[in-house]
Amino acid sequence: MEKTDLEQYIVIHYHELLTIEEKAAYKHHLTTLKAENAQNPKFGEMIMNRWGTSNPDALELLDGGYDSFKKKVATRILNDIPNKVFINNCPKCGELARTPKAKQCRFCGHDWH
Ligand SMILES: [Zn+2]
Repeated sequence: MEKTDLEQYIVIHYHELLTIEEKAAYKHHLTTLKAENAQNPKFGEMIMNRWGTSNPDALELLDGGYDSFKKKVATRILNDIPNKVFINNCPKCGELARTPKAKQCRFCGHDWH
């Protein structure tokens, strides 16, 4: 089973902690994936125009690709405001749960309801 990606966990579950530029960059990344999957290139272009960003600061965050982006975001948040993030590790095996509110471990099956 694939381990929970802490960086993605932060980007998704603590999205409100992202800066405006980081949010725009994340949305731009999702939009790029959608546009790439569009059957019609014109439609892809339309999607990018509508939901992509032209904010240079946001685009710069994506320069190194999405993996590097989520690493930057997670590192910043964990350095600056670590007490805002609940890293929901299983009390039994220590693996990161899928969400901050999960009360059951998908690795060892431990249940802490
Ligand atoms: Zn566990």
